Amino acid sequence: MKTKLVFATNNKHKLREVSDILKDKIELLSLSDIHCNVDIPETSNTIPGNAKLKAQYVKEHYQLNCFADDTGLEIDALNGAPGVYSARYAGESKDSEENIQKVLKELEGKTNRKAQFRTVIALIYNEQEYLFEGIIKGEIIKEKRGNSGFGYDPIFIPEGYNDTFAEMGDEIKNKISHRAIAVEKLCNFLKNQ
Ligand code: IMP
Repeated sequence: MKTKLVFATNNKHKLREVSDILKDKIELLSLSDIHCNVDIPETSNTIPGNAKLKAQYVKEHYQLNCFADDTGLEIDALNGAPGVYSARYAGESKDSEENIQKVLKELEGKTNRKAQFRTVIALIYNEQEYLFEGIIKGEIIKEKRGNSGFGYDPIFIPEGYNDTFAEMGDEIKNKISHRAIAVEKLCNFLKNQ
């Protein structure tokens, strides 16, 4: 029988990405599948802290095994910003276009364009908490390219590639991304349970 797990997110893109990766290994339930319509507060000032808050909320309120992810774009020349504040970098509206424009503006004239995406997954499984991290290094280009993906995808080229995440399409992105790396670690863990 497949393991049932809640993925504590309302982000359709993430849900599709992770469902694609887990395929038939795990039965994934979304927040709406468990009738949780709350925008779970992300009040920590660290990426792992926010992932834990979201997973703990589901565990406390629904008593279900679950995991949550939190992701940040960490840019070298901006001392790791936007980092944990990636969603609201340009303001509370959490608008991806505005966030991208702010990053491009902050990097104007900077030669060091190195950056990385970092995802941390917090899993609560049979009363224990586990963390899994995925990092992908790359660089921020000077203008947007590509239409697939979401968030900062149009301005990020992963190391060893010529296309942005938004140009390469979901199939390739989901094999190499920060989230894919963290999810792979989660899967390996679950397989051994
Ligand atoms: P969160 O993990 O949903 O809090 O995401 C934080 C911010 O990073 C949001 O602005 C997302 O749009 C962005 N983000 C998260 N994952 C990705 C990704 O895979 N590619 C590009 N942007 C992302």
